Amino acid sequence: MEQNEKVMRVRDSLIHILEKAVKELYPDVKVATSLIIDNGFYYDFDFASPITDKDLGKIEQKMRELVKKVNPADELKNAGFKLDKIAGAYWEGDEKNKMLTRIYGLAFESSDKLTDFIKQREEAEKRDHRKLGKELDLFHIDDKVGLGLPLWHPKGAMLWRVIEDFWYQEHLKNGYDLVRSPHIGNKELWETSGHWGFYNSSMYPPLEAGQTLKDKQEGKKAEHSEEYLLKPMNCPFHVQIYKNSPKSYKQFPFRWAECGTVYRFEKKGELSGLTRVRGFTQDDAHILCRKDQIENELKKVIDFILFIYKSFGFDINTVKVFLSLRDPNNKEKYAGNDEGWNYTEDVLRKVATEKGLDFTEEKGEAAFYGPKLDFKIKDALGRLWQCSTLQFDFNLPERFDLTFINAKGEQERPYMLHRALFGSFERFIGLLIEHYAGAFPFWLAPVQIKIVPIRENHNEYAEKISEQLRKLGYRIDCDIREENMGKKVRDAKNNKIPYTIIIGDKDIEVNKISVESRDKGALGQMSLEDFISRVR
Ligand code: ZN
Repeated sequence: MEQNEKVMRVRDSLIHILEKAVKELYPDVKVATSLIIDNGFYYDFDFASPITDKDLGKIEQKMRELVKKVNPADELKNAGFKLDKIAGAYWEGDEKNKMLTRIYGLAFESSDKLTDFIKQREEAEKRDHRKLGKELDLFHIDDKVGLGLPLWHPKGAMLWRVIEDFWYQEHLKNGYDLVRSPHIGNKELWETSGHWGFYNSSMYPPLEAGQTLKDKQEGKKAEHSEEYLLKPMNCPFHVQIYKNSPKSYKQFPFRWAECGTVYRFEKKGELSGLTRVRGFTQDDAHILCRKDQIENELKKVIDFILFIYKSFGFDINTVKVFLSLRDPNNKEKYAGNDEGWNYTEDVLRKVATEKGLDFTEEKGEAAFYGPKLDFKIKDALGRLWQCSTLQFDFNLPERFDLTFINAKGEQERPYMLHRALFGSFERFIGLLIEHYAGAFPFWLAPVQIKIVPIRENHNEYAEKISEQLRKLGYRIDCDIREENMGKKVRDAKNNKIPYTIIIGDKDIEVNKISVESRDKGALGQMSLEDFISRVR
């Protein structure tokens, strides 16, 4: 806390020094707003003639001269700071107003901290999934197709597929069944579910489905009106599957999983790579169960979430959990009554405590139909990513009038859990790209082994090796392009492929292969069998 106050004082003092420095260098400048931000501060100025990034050095130099004169200034003398960049900013943030020049500064209590921050930022830029997505040829977002709608290239689609296969296998092992649902659903469905009223600010307007596009273009009137909505969630479809036949208490629990693509409205300016998109695939599941099964089912999901994190190489000790509750002062934003909310919130709190989760409670972050546990994981750079969610819902069963016949032969209402482990494939793949800086572990890599024949007369042997490995299920790229070996090996390195097999005369003579590992360097010559036992 003391450290925090100290750094805030440093940033505040630097804002004043920046103002003084700018006024001395540009006497006719007008000053506007300044603010302390996460890693430093900014200050908006109205310069008589515009300045550029090149002028920052001069201003910083002047600030350093002023720092020496400040008294008492021990804190400032120890701090390091750096003017970072300039940007345009409207006066009072209103685009009708004049454009000002915003100077950003980085400031920490010591120069070591500043150096660490700059290093971390450079590393984050290198790992940026948008940059690596392009370099590794995984995906792109195409203006012609639409904003926030990623297109997956063969290697990206393979990465997705490997993750999805693993996901399906583990769901089957954990007692889930698979369901599938369409991308659009009748307006009435969304009115019943409550999305029409409670979720409309994240949804697209209805599609008219009572006539063809041609009829509409020709100005014909539809014979009957049918309105459909792009699904923002999969839940109402799974609810309708439940309702399709009578259910008995003996059949519970139902665990239904679907990798379902949903569509949510995001403002153009807020879209970003794979982490903020308009169409994304949730790794969704709904669990319908009796009241006496709730706690056990919640605990099983928590175990599953932690298992998934471990499997993808994350440290589960750094997972942050948030118990998202209703905002009691804004009850109109949520469906359902106090009794239901109090019960579901208490159960989630109890389960999270019993599972030993270190959680923070957050008011106002619940879904409209119930409270939830949100899980955030730390990547290799220590940054938190929103990932899994586990939601306890008593509202949709009520709104859709879901029932089952209990042991006494009476109608009873089931409870419903909504959960996603990755959150969405898009965001999770974005996270994996940045966590691994594109150098995926062997089991995940879209291309696991690249085979490089040195000359054309080695192609036949290289193809034979490729075929043998492909038959065993490995993902192979046999590079028989008319390029020199150096370029081919460099390409394999740039693509961060775990293993490169080089084939030359000396390998063919003794029926062996020469192997280079991405992580361990040259491994030398070995038989194909030895290589397989090594990577298996
Ligand atoms: Zn749901």
